[in-house]
Amino acid sequence: MSKEESVAPRIHALIERAQARGKELSLTEITELLSITTPPELDLLWQAADWTRRQEVGEEIWLRGLLEFSNVCRCNCFYCGLRRDNTLLPRYRLTEEQILEAVGRLSRLRIDTVVLQSGEDPYFTAESLMSLLQAIKHSYDIAITLSIGYRPKSELAAFRRAGADRFLIRHETANPDLYAAFHPDSTLADRVQQLRDLRELGYEVGSGCLVGLPGQTLSDLAADIALVRQLDVDMFGVGPFIPHPDTPLGDASPGSVSLTYKMIAVARLVLRDVHIPVTTALSTLEEDGREKGWTRGANIVMPNATPAPYRAQYELYKNKRCIDDTLEHCRGCLERRVKSVGRVIGQGRGTSLKLARRAVPV
Ligand code: SF4
Repeated sequence: MSKEESVAPRIHALIERAQARGKELSLTEITELLSITTPPELDLLWQAADWTRRQEVGEEIWLRGLLEFSNVCRCNCFYCGLRRDNTLLPRYRLTEEQILEAVGRLSRLRIDTVVLQSGEDPYFTAESLMSLLQAIKHSYDIAITLSIGYRPKSELAAFRRAGADRFLIRHETANPDLYAAFHPDSTLADRVQQLRDLRELGYEVGSGCLVGLPGQTLSDLAADIALVRQLDVDMFGVGPFIPHPDTPLGDASPGSVSLTYKMIAVARLVLRDVHIPVTTALSTLEEDGREKGWTRGANIVMPNATPAPYRAQYELYKNKRCIDDTLEHCRGCLERRVKSVGRVIGQGRGTSLKLARRAVPV
């Protein structure tokens, strides 16, 4: 019996429909795809996602250099090691000089995007961030992504004018009750509004969600995909929840790796030409998580450009992968891994393929 013969006819038809017209899937259909568990059905899902990835975004895997410039956070999200009540974590902020030096290393390694990521750190005022953005753009031909949490719309507009090209802010979960249970300092409605504001301001916009939050259901995860479909994001990142011992969720079970792959695959089928990264959290839980992610719908990876010893202190969760590797080592390792799945590293900025069909104010 071939693999396809052992796939339930209803699931076979659903995957075929998702491959041809995934954008039209209903919430119930997305939930049903996420419920698949038998190996032949999963194989068919991976194949459909991989085929769609090839058609929609091609063979390139794009590198985004992650520079974690401050681990100070004013917020107290229940799952996060950077939360303000975690007094066990040594805090740091990089100087502008350290940041420029790290961006220079990325540029020399032909990694043409820097993701400036931090906790919600009020020390970095709008003025200081604008000055940093201008200094980077003055010295380097590199795309800049901000991942700094909530900022008022006026500041987002100023950052865009100062040179920021992209902005990542995860909505984390599309279930408002679940969001409220774990995020004492923000609301889901505000997150979604910020994503809309960013789009209006001409940013390439990235969102994302956690897989495996306590109490989360498959319907919640289907709603995550439906929400980012509606927001028409340029990037969607999916990472498994990993409990950090020094947080209120320290004793919870980690998110499922297999469900994370399913989210990547189904997101590819539904969102089509979006960028989908393999997250560090996924590769932390599974050694070959990157390779599996890339062959199940993903097309992005984010090598870590944060200098030692700070990299280990950006402790969203414990035991992050590649903590001791240099950026140069990471690039070589990723080249080999990308080659091993028959793909190529993208040359250039890897701009969103959706931009061509949007009128973008500059
Ligand atoms: S998830 Fe983000 S906003 Fe929440 S505590 Fe962690 S760094 Fe701060």
